[in-house]
Amino acid sequence: MVHSFYLNGYYIALDVNSGAVHLLDKMAFDLLNKFEDKLPEECPAEIVKELSKEYSEEDILELYSELLGLQNAGQLFSEDDYERFTDMMKGAPIKSMCLHISHDCNLRCKYCFASTGDFGKGRKLMPVETGKKAIDFLLTHSGNRHNLELDFFGGEPLMNWDAVKEIVDYARSKEEEYNKKFRFTVTTNGVLLNDENIDYINKEMKNVVLSLDGRKCVNDNMRLTINGKGSYDIFVPKFQKLVEKRLKGENKEYYARGTFTKNNLDFAQDVYHIADDLGFDQLSVEPVIADPSEPYAITEEDLPAIFAEY
Ligand code: SF4
Repeated sequence: MVHSFYLNGYYIALDVNSGAVHLLDKMAFDLLNKFEDKLPEECPAEIVKELSKEYSEEDILELYSELLGLQNAGQLFSEDDYERFTDMMKGAPIKSMCLHISHDCNLRCKYCFASTGDFGKGRKLMPVETGKKAIDFLLTHSGNRHNLELDFFGGEPLMNWDAVKEIVDYARSKEEEYNKKFRFTVTTNGVLLNDENIDYINKEMKNVVLSLDGRKCVNDNMRLTINGKGSYDIFVPKFQKLVEKRLKGENKEYYARGTFTKNNLDFAQDVYHIADDLGFDQLSVEPVIADPSEPYAITEEDLPAIFAEY
């Protein structure tokens, strides 16, 4: 199995079974993504035709033979030999899982770790059945662990909200039979929050992660809507409503999660804003991870200012 994705300016392919990691260029990424399974000896004509709208036929064929070389060397689409480790894994139960329930997002943050939600692989939502299979897997591979943790992550999980609810309901319906207790978390940018999903989150989710960067000017410089506007005014009142209701209920944990960049090395002001002005006292503001060529990337010369700010 090959897992390929775009992250922080890099096109990456992980050959899961061999553990080989390949840094690709865009053309190799596009070509590799045409294949779900082993590469045939010759590149299929329809794929060459399709890609030749963007690249020269000669380059495609040359690149294909390089990918084939990696495959022949056991570094792409390598054999699945995990079976021989099954006995070893029996004593190592899993207790938590992160479901990428939505590879899509309704924001376009400049520093997005996920290539604005889809990890460079096309915008998709996880089918409910896949989520239910994940629940079954967790139930049957968690040994005698009683408490199981499941995070709904994206992209933006609320874009696949009906699936989230169905998967939660399914998991709850299995708790008694398996003697397990699920603890759910959802991470959201808040754009789609409304009274219905706020109440559901506060009832069912043990924790909720609320993404925001602090002061309006800081947030709106990086966290943009699809049409390029600032997002602060859209989600802040919704986050405040969620937290206000949450603190009156049983599940009180939440955290406001911000990112600072080179543009706001005075990020303590954003911490104060989130805590004092917005009233969120469970929070974390962390440095951006970015391609060093990005203008907002943190570089070594920023470190003294960052240490002082901490
Ligand atoms: S909200 Fe998250 S997933 Fe969406 S664009 Fe921003 S950083 Fe990316």
